[in-house]
Amino acid sequence: MPYVVGYPRIGEKRELKFALEKYWRGETSLNELEEVAKELRARHWNYQKEAGIEYISSNDFSYYDQMIDMIVMLGAEPQEYKDLEGIDRYFVMARGDQNHKALPMTKWFNTNYHYFVPQLRKDMEFALNLQKPLNEFKEAKALGIETKVNLIGPVTFLSLSRTIDGSDPLDLLPRVLPIYKEAMEGLKEAGVKMVQFDEPALVKDPTQKQLEAIKQAYKVIPTKGIESYIVTYFEHANEVVEQLIDTPISGIGLDFVHGPKNIQSVEEIAKSGKKLIAGVVDGRNIWVSDIDKKVQFLQELPIEKDQVIVSTSCSLLHVPYTLAYEKKLDSNIKSWLAFTNEKLAELRLIDKLYRGKEIGEDRELLEANKAANETRKSSLQIHNKAVQERLANLKPEEKERQMRGEERLPLQREILGYPMLPTTTIGSFPQTSEVRKLRRDYKEGKISQEEYKAKIKEMIRYCVNVQEDIGLDVLVHGEFERNDMVEYFGQMLSGVAFSENGWVQSYGSRCVKPPIIYGDVSRPAPMTVEWITYAQSLTDKPMKGMLTGPVTMLNWSFVRDDLDRELVYKQMALAIADEVRDLQDAGIKVIQVDEAAFKEGYPLRSENRNEYERVAVESFKISTAPARPKTQIHTHMCYSDFNDIMPTIDAMDADVISIETARNGNRLLEAFRNYHYKKEVGAGVYDIHSPRIPSKEELIAQIEDRLKVFPARLLWINPDCGLKTRRWEEVIPALTNMVEATKDVRSRIVKL
Ligand code: GLN
Ligand code: ZN
Repeated sequence: MPYVVGYPRIGEKRELKFALEKYWRGETSLNELEEVAKELRARHWNYQKEAGIEYISSNDFSYYDQMIDMIVMLGAEPQEYKDLEGIDRYFVMARGDQNHKALPMTKWFNTNYHYFVPQLRKDMEFALNLQKPLNEFKEAKALGIETKVNLIGPVTFLSLSRTIDGSDPLDLLPRVLPIYKEAMEGLKEAGVKMVQFDEPALVKDPTQKQLEAIKQAYKVIPTKGIESYIVTYFEHANEVVEQLIDTPISGIGLDFVHGPKNIQSVEEIAKSGKKLIAGVVDGRNIWVSDIDKKVQFLQELPIEKDQVIVSTSCSLLHVPYTLAYEKKLDSNIKSWLAFTNEKLAELRLIDKLYRGKEIGEDRELLEANKAANETRKSSLQIHNKAVQERLANLKPEEKERQMRGEERLPLQREILGYPMLPTTTIGSFPQTSEVRKLRRDYKEGKISQEEYKAKIKEMIRYCVNVQEDIGLDVLVHGEFERNDMVEYFGQMLSGVAFSENGWVQSYGSRCVKPPIIYGDVSRPAPMTVEWITYAQSLTDKPMKGMLTGPVTMLNWSFVRDDLDRELVYKQMALAIADEVRDLQDAGIKVIQVDEAAFKEGYPLRSENRNEYERVAVESFKISTAPARPKTQIHTHMCYSDFNDIMPTIDAMDADVISIETARNGNRLLEAFRNYHYKKEVGAGVYDIHSPRIPSKEELIAQIEDRLKVFPARLLWINPDCGLKTRRWEEVIPALTNMVEATKDVRSRIVKL
């Protein structure tokens, strides 16, 4: 009786993405969008049913984000959206419009999924809106599928929220509990038998207050006639188990893949008589399970079999749908992989073997699984001696730059000659449908390489001209040749494979196709030099070369689990170092090594942080070590809070760092106020996730806010992040306002 914590929703062909985007462009009606959503839900329920999954979820679907769904369910929409209603309000909270900012967005734990942060107030009134969970439950029921209803639990919901008045969101628990209770009554009335409460927040070093909150919550919420299951994931949750053990809940979900210490809680659960939802199939990675090992693991757990429910480690939201469309993937590599639907089969098989049932037709699957695990250990496709030896014998100058940052910067300023408050962008410019079509045509062989290159160069020329006209100081080529900042590089590296259809939702309608790092990594040939040098040839202004850093490459990839992760990071770092050297040799004087996902790889438990930071910093430094003192290294980070890692950011030793700042209401500035940072910083002056065009006045205010924290000599002016999701009609006026605002502030500083 296998259990799936949650199923992805974007569709195996990204149907939801395309339907959403059409709807937003006004090309289809709400009705048509709803039809697509309904079809997807039905399909996903049926897949799970056919695969023999017993515990199937409803309400794991979302038009945009499950946290926004919870905001709606709890009636927690912020005041500023109250002029709107229904689906319009929903999408404006997610995406913003001319009159509204979007809700802030941030990482869902250490995944590459992003959720929207509820904005609460200490005196707010919640009100239940149960429509969505109810409808989806009934919809499944009409198809003959009895689902559990997934809700984000109150402690996690509040822990992931912010308040606009600085109060602790957790203080709102007494106000939300009655709403959850009322929800239970409503669900019960509709015939729901089981509710899953996701409570992953407490795997991150839970506070005493959170622990008390979870106990209080689940004394109140469970309701006769419905079973309440509390699931945790991504780390161990021993403290949570302790709190829940004498509450009236029916079962607890533990992630044994990413939280090995969870084993320590099994006996306690066994004694309590509650069910253990045993997360053994990895919901975060794509390697085939070693079925025999998983079965053995389950058998050794100190708990009766009838108390155990075999489960995924977390929602399958974080892995692609199916290998069924992978026609080009090397057959060996493919045999080492399991996406969502293949994981369903693994679950079924593990469950059967664990319970000593006939495996019947699954015999073949078991044989294939054994073979895959064998070949993976010995395959020559994986092991590359040259890469291993190079890494084992690094010289000091290959590990880090030799001159200190504060000494390098004056040399760079002189060579590059940029003014005070230099303006730049983060790299990408609009990815129009024209650009995407061009890349697609090239990929499908419809146009020649010559034609492709000529067209890309035309776009680069346009982009450089636009930036010159606007008057930016350090230019970029625009990244038109890139579909995605990680995929683009992954495709040119050895040891990295690509699926054709392995899409994973990043946020809303955005998906990424993470590279699959299956073997030792190296860079056979230059990856960006032709584009960047072409762009540089068009202008006298410095052209910033644009690379993705080793930490981000791994954090946004599916990483092999058969080699120490530190070695994989450093192999990647060497591959990027080769590119830095080549760009520099080709005359490029500014190189940005993006580490957008630096923070996201952080371990959830503080006990593991130092080790992560050490490896991440060492890897970044290896990747930039070839840069001479006069070559200016930029890095860029976004999506997360950086307030607590200033010393680590400093240790990365980049000359200039640009960080997403505006999107989170300038909270980041606080971190710099308290930290004596001596290198240069671009604290993003406007959020790029919304089509809203910031006015010159707003931008002046933003720059002035930053000047209260940074000396003018160290401050760069740039948007929060790359502009690829925006349109030229938005980008040109926004950047023009940014440059005008900068000039205005500059002129006043100079006068002072
Ligand atoms: N250089 C990349 C871009 O501008 C950085 C993207 C990111 O930080 N997510 O698109
Ligand atoms: Zn960014």
